[in-house]
Amino acid sequence: AKDAGGNRYELADPDSDARAIDRHSLTNHLPAALERDEFFLEYQPLIRMSDGHVDGAEALVRWAHPVHGRLGPDRFIPLAEHTGLIVPLGRWVLEQAVRQACDWAVGRTLRVNVNLSPRQLHHPDLVPDTIAVLESAGVEPSSLCLEVTESALIGADADELKPLWQLAEMGVDIALDDFGTGYSNLANLRKLPATTLKLDRSFTQGLQRHPADPVDVTFVEGIVSLAHALGLAVTVEGVETEHQADQLRDLGCDTAQGWYYARPAPAAEFGRDWGCPSP
Ligand code: C2E
Ligand code: CA
Ligand code: CA
Ligand code: CA
Repeated sequence: AKDAGGNRYELADPDSDARAIDRHSLTNHLPAALERDEFFLEYQPLIRMSDGHVDGAEALVRWAHPVHGRLGPDRFIPLAEHTGLIVPLGRWVLEQAVRQACDWAVGRTLRVNVNLSPRQLHHPDLVPDTIAVLESAGVEPSSLCLEVTESALIGADADELKPLWQLAEMGVDIALDDFGTGYSNLANLRKLPATTLKLDRSFTQGLQRHPADPVDVTFVEGIVSLAHALGLAVTVEGVETEHQADQLRDLGCDTAQGWYYARPAPAAEFGRDWGCPSP
């Protein structure tokens, strides 16, 4: 059974129209929400395609709003990004996720993926904060993967990329999130400290069809061979069916994430389902 905290908020309609909720009021309540601990994380497993084992988890933030119920990140991350609250919120996410990974990783390796917003990326405290969080949890840098969107990175100059390079040199993995949705110059990939490409769901959707959309197959094939040639691993998002999973594995994708394997779930449920109960 889901924990009581989770159920409480599921009474609210998660799909109620975003515009029905006043963005100003949401924005104004963000700082108090952080203080009152209204944010929580869910975790979705990352599955190694070669053997089907869980390789890590992506931490995804949610807001247990006292009036509107459970709000997904698309509803409030852009607002937090706009006001700058994303910096302390993002630090909270990082801290929670890294501590959780430490609990889960007893006797095994389990990586945790944390999303980084553009504003965090350009904040001077990114590197010292990340080091502090890893050290205080006693977690190896290689157990952390920071996910950065393509659009936040492409066009960044060398100075702006320095903090990411620093983290990468420490051993932190960097994933290029939502890959394929921006207008990236593929040649630029070599200038980024990324270790992984996360291929956006929009490119794996066509593989749900029988037969698969040949354009999507060709696209995935091309990206995988390019990524591997550059020494990058490929993670595919939005895997919803077995048919899709089989094809993506055959196309050489390394890691997969999606509802076919599991929906994002609270930490306790993730631990139970994936054999890493908290001590
Ligand atoms: P994302 O990083 O691309 O995360 C993947 C999204 O796809 C998640 O949505 C996840 O629940 C959803 N998803 C996973 N598997 C499937 C599937 O098989 N089918 C479909 N249709 N969807 C799937 P979610 O949790 O609503 O997050 C939305 C976005 O919010 C994330 O997209 C990310 O950009 C952002 N976000 C989430 N947590 C954080 C955070 O802590 N910090 C920042 N800066 N952004 C976050
Ligand atoms: Ca992500
Ligand atoms: Ca993504
Ligand atoms: Ca996305």
